[in-house]
Amino acid sequence: MRGIMTTIASNLQAVRAAIAAAAAACGRAPQDIGLLAVSKTFPADAVREACAAGQRRFGENYVQEGIDKIAALRDLQIEWHFIGPIQSNKTRPIAEHFDWVHGIERLKIAERLSAQRPTHLPPLQVCLQVNVSGEASKSGAAPEEVEALALQVAKLPNLRLRGLMAIPAPTDDAAAQRAAFAQLRASFEKLKDAGLQIDTLSMGMSHDFPSAVAEGATLVRIGTAIFGARDYPK
Ligand SMILES: *Cc1c(COP(=O)(O)O)cnc(C)c1O
Repeated sequence: MRGIMTTIASNLQAVRAAIAAAAAACGRAPQDIGLLAVSKTFPADAVREACAAGQRRFGENYVQEGIDKIAALRDLQIEWHFIGPIQSNKTRPIAEHFDWVHGIERLKIAERLSAQRPTHLPPLQVCLQVNVSGEASKSGAAPEEVEALALQVAKLPNLRLRGLMAIPAPTDDAAAQRAAFAQLRASFEKLKDAGLQIDTLSMGMSHDFPSAVAEGATLVRIGTAIFGARDYPK
C-alpha cells in the first residue's frame, strides 16, 4: 500500500502540524519543541510504524513492557524515555535500558539510578518531576524543594540533569492549564538563575500541549493523539 499513509503516520503528521501552529501562535520556532511519542500499552509494531514515519523518541511508563519493546526494536535507532512512576526496586532495569528518565522526585531514586547506570553507556539524561497541582496530585517534588534536589542530582556522576517535568491535574480550562505550566516554567528559570545548565521543559500531553507550548515547553509527551485511545487491561 505504498503511498497510502497509515493512521499512525497521519496522526503524527497532524500532531506535528498542531505543534507548529501552537509555536507560530506565540512566536516560537517549531524545531525548538521536541515530540516524545508515548507508546505505553501499544505493541512494538505500532512503535515501528511511527518510526517509519520519522519519529525517533518514545516514552514508556511500565518497566517490563518498555524493556520488552526495547528488545524487540533493537534494529531501530530509538531514544527511549522512561516517564512512569519509579519504584526504588525497579531502578536497575531502568538505568540499564533507557536513555532518559523524567519522573525523578527524590534524591534516593536519583542516587540509585546513578549507581546502577552501566559505565559503558552515556550518562542517563534526567528530568525532575515537580508537583504543580498541590493537593490534586501526589507525585512530584514540592516546588519549594526542587532547587535543593536539583543541586544534588546535578552532582551525581552517571546522570545528566536536563530539566523539569510535570503532569498537571487534567482540565479543559486553557487558563488553568497555562497557570500550571507557567509554574513549572518559573521553577525552571529559577534553576537556570541558580547556575544549572538545563535545557528541557517536559510538559504537555494530548489534551493540553498547545498551552504547554505557549508556556515554553521544549518537549511534549503525546500518546493518545498519535496511537489512539488506550485500552487498559481490567
Ligand atoms: C500517558 C502519559 C502521557 C501521554 O498522555 P496522552 O494523554 O495519551 O497524550 C504523557 N506523559 C505521561 C507522564 C504519561 O504517563
